[in-house]
Amino acid sequence: MTDPLYRRVIVKLSGEALTGPKDFGIDQTTVERIAADLAAASKLGVELGVVVGGGNIFRGVEVSSRGVPRPVGDSMGMLATVMNCLALEEAIERAGREARTLSALAMPSVCETYNRKRAQKNLGKGRVVLLAAGTGNPFFTTDTTAVLRAAELDCQAVLKATNVDGVYTADPKKDPKAKRYEKLSHQEALEKNLKVMDSTAFALARENHMPIIVFSIADKGAIEAVLRGKGRSTVIG
Ligand code: UDP
Repeated sequence: MTDPLYRRVIVKLSGEALTGPKDFGIDQTTVERIAADLAAASKLGVELGVVVGGGNIFRGVEVSSRGVPRPVGDSMGMLATVMNCLALEEAIERAGREARTLSALAMPSVCETYNRKRAQKNLGKGRVVLLAAGTGNPFFTTDTTAVLRAAELDCQAVLKATNVDGVYTADPKKDPKAKRYEKLSHQEALEKNLKVMDSTAFALARENHMPIIVFSIADKGAIEAVLRGKGRSTVIG
């Protein structure tokens, strides 16, 4: 078996990755499967930070379209990411790996507050670090958070989990001729206005030379495959 290509990475999971067959919220079977994948990847000796979205529960923009001020909606969205992280933290520990949730919004009776040194210390101990509450600021996304944390924690890549095994020339579900890109530059990702991440996230990745690897989380063992440079994906950067 090939050795992992990376020493430390951020895995970005959208909230929707946790809904499984449901339309909303957290599907426990799906959480257990993804947690087992993360635990297996961590057992390879790769230090894993995990940024989890909250779109399966709340998205600030959607809440604000109902008349709630956007910063309030965004706070609700950030709290949703904490719930997702807590669900994953427990499941990762049941899968045999230590895990810690660090939240960018202070909530000391629930979990520790994020700071860079604390995150690095936990990563260095081989714990899976769940980075909750996004950046802690409204008007940002958890994709941007993933790139930000990757840069500040000296990670070598962001592994962006999606439902598709990479970036395609067109929607592969609608267009049978759609081709998957093997590689793209950050600039190309920005110019093509790819929907796989928001432009703030791509711009931050470009400035910090941070590779983004887009892969599908649908298959068991997908995270380990990416870490070993196997499986299907698109590398941006
Ligand atoms: N959010 C925020 N600041 C951040 C990250 C997230 O305000 O730094 C809020 C925002 O409302 C967002 C929600 O949290 O809609 C959930 O995050 P995101 O939409 O990125 O989740 P995903 O689509 O990955 O599930």
